[in-house]
Amino acid sequence: MKDTLKHKGMRNKLAQVLIDKGIKEKTVLDAIREVPRHLFMDSSFEGHAYQDKAFPIAANQTISQPYTVAFQTELLELKPNCTVLEIGTGSGYQTAVLLKCRAKVFTIERQLELFKKTNIFFKKMGYRPKKFIFGDGYKGLPENAPFDRVIVTAGAPEVPKALLSQLKVGGRLVIPVGFENQIMTLYVRISEKEFEKSEFGSFKFVPLLENKN
Ligand code: SAH
Repeated sequence: MKDTLKHKGMRNKLAQVLIDKGIKEKTVLDAIREVPRHLFMDSSFEGHAYQDKAFPIAANQTISQPYTVAFQTELLELKPNCTVLEIGTGSGYQTAVLLKCRAKVFTIERQLELFKKTNIFFKKMGYRPKKFIFGDGYKGLPENAPFDRVIVTAGAPEVPKALLSQLKVGGRLVIPVGFENQIMTLYVRISEKEFEKSEFGSFKFVPLLENKN
């Protein structure tokens, strides 16, 4: 598959759809206009890649809906060169959006099949996260902590303590919390011990799974 002017045109339309749904941040919209989402998906979905919908990827997982990706990214309030820990790499689409916003990304995926596939894809496409780890995101990444931002792209029953503790003071963590449906939740670390929590709309994610071993 290639990226063509036709795809670019479809991305511009998608960005307009996201603007109509309330996304405002230019950096985020520019990333949506640039990242070739169809290349992150199975070729059989190519014709649908620029619809504002989630689609299946390998290992029973999904590539998040563009609106969700844009909404979470906007909530992060990224600054150039800020460090971002991403839990749930999946197809790598959200990772690529973060990279386009000039973040330094550390990303973790727990499904081996997806990890291998996306790792090859990143190399082929020239996407360069600082680290791409096969492991359990519940634990975060202590060796590179603290982070300016943390984003979780799977539904968590509650916010993992390790992720809160790996956030810098002034840092922002965005996580969908809940079982069937999730409430998009933002934690801002306002001091060493205090977090300010705010809740946004309801979303639907695949579950964040903990490794019990
Ligand atoms: N941002 C991705 C979303 C993929 S779906 C995209 O748009 O493609 C969520 C991903 O989280 C899945 O790939 C799933 O395997 C992964 N995941 C679930 N639990 C995890 C955990 N504990 N640690 C890391 N990744 C996890």
